[in-house]
Amino acid sequence: MSNLQAPLVECFSSIQGEGVLVGLRQVFLRFSGCNLNCKFCDTPGMSAVPDDCLLELTPGRRDFFKVPNPVPLERVATLIESWTAAWPGIHHSISVTGGEPLLFGTLLEEWLPVLKKLLPIYLETNGTLPEALAPLIPHLDSIGMDIKLPSSTGCPELWDQHHAFLELAAMKEVFVKIVVGQETEDWEIQRSCAMIASVDPGIPLILQPVTRDDGSIGIDSLRTLELQELCSSLREVRVIPQTHKFMGQL
Ligand code: SF4
Repeated sequence: MSNLQAPLVECFSSIQGEGVLVGLRQVFLRFSGCNLNCKFCDTPGMSAVPDDCLLELTPGRRDFFKVPNPVPLERVATLIESWTAAWPGIHHSISVTGGEPLLFGTLLEEWLPVLKKLLPIYLETNGTLPEALAPLIPHLDSIGMDIKLPSSTGCPELWDQHHAFLELAAMKEVFVKIVVGQETEDWEIQRSCAMIASVDPGIPLILQPVTRDDGSIGIDSLRTLELQELCSSLREVRVIPQTHKFMGQL
């Protein structure tokens, strides 16, 4: 196990601020690097692997210490195991996040079976790397995947990748998240909903109003309502902003 090393940014305990698991306490395991470059990204500099990973000693107390990258799986597993032993039951699951954690799909094939013995595994992903997801499906408990809209992300259109990804992810508990702003166009939401409905209209969709750099919400209330009204082909469509930001959580 000690040879399984990963480039990590941080591992800490906090409250999930996004998606259907909002409000739950999780262990966040953040991988370095991403295959996209969204203009609203809140983890800038993710393309470079930091020299050190920040590990939290006590869950939620922000008493971080540094461990040189890459970090051995054994180090992370031992830390989380110490938390689950000393604070049993406080964590709902491990959020495997980034950046884009599926850039390390081969490594996760070895890490996830070990971590899954400690807590359920929730994957947060940009939903563009279906080939990397496929072998991990047996090790995952739930998946939160993004659909990246060209207007709000500045990314190219990724419909084919998202569709292939969602078809695979639907083998597990999955929801879709779309960051929306004032510039979001009707056709983008309509195309997203048609794609989700073609897989399963029961898959929950979260419309997440974009958070500006100054902490304000980048879409007005009427436009938010208009976008939600475009989603009538789906059974469960919620509007949830990034709650961790206004709670002062990581
Ligand atoms: S997919 Fe996520 S981590 Fe990657 S650039 Fe976009 S917002 Fe940032």
